[in-house]
Amino acid sequence: MDFKKITSANYSKKPRKSSLIKFIIIHYTGMQSKRASIERLLSKKYKVSCHFLIDRKGEIFEMVETFKVAWHAGKSKWGSYVNLNQHSIGIELENKGHKHGYQSYSKAQISKLIKLCKILKKKFKIKSSYILGHSDIAPLRKIDPGEKFPWYKLAKKGIVIKTPKIKNIKIKSKASIRKMFFSNLHKIGYRYFNKKKNLKTDIFVIKAFQRRYLQRSISGKIDPKTLYLSHLIAHARKN
Ligand SMILES: [Zn+2]
Repeated sequence: MDFKKITSANYSKKPRKSSLIKFIIIHYTGMQSKRASIERLLSKKYKVSCHFLIDRKGEIFEMVETFKVAWHAGKSKWGSYVNLNQHSIGIELENKGHKHGYQSYSKAQISKLIKLCKILKKKFKIKSSYILGHSDIAPLRKIDPGEKFPWYKLAKKGIVIKTPKIKNIKIKSKASIRKMFFSNLHKIGYRYFNKKKNLKTDIFVIKAFQRRYLQRSISGKIDPKTLYLSHLIAHARKN
């Protein structure tokens, strides 16, 4: 696969063993232009970076080599993992983001991303359920890659698990909806909530889940669809 190399100054000095790599984290750049994004990811001043950036034409830039730890995830959790930089490969997709005019991802960009993920998955034995969006692992701070990111295209190619289809929705007890939902999310891997206690920030976690699995209805409310889907995903077989 062809990469353009442009080396970022931002990575941890200590190299890592490839066996530490468990996740691929997908981001958008969220800036006005590609140039501004690249400048930011290269500059020492900002202390951020990624392993790969894919522009809208589908060109891939390698900014940090995979045996080095790039700084893209920040404070984050998934399952028993905390602060995922050292365990992950970060991929940035050029997109202006919600602040500057959120765009649909281009075909070229997604097809290159799929190719890259295939290679990385194989090389580092990454599980389908460990390919995540930034908002999945940092739901209180991040909303990228956002509701326009076509997870279903990655699912079609076997990169991530297919979202189960909802048929009949039956919910028995109304009283424990919140508890059921967050138990499911906990099982899936989401963190940043308390199963027993309402938190003001719960809405962000609910939205993060919807941004990935119910991209057309990001209400921040645990409606029957949201609850049911959380149940199906929590109980789907993982690989
Ligand atoms: Zn991000």
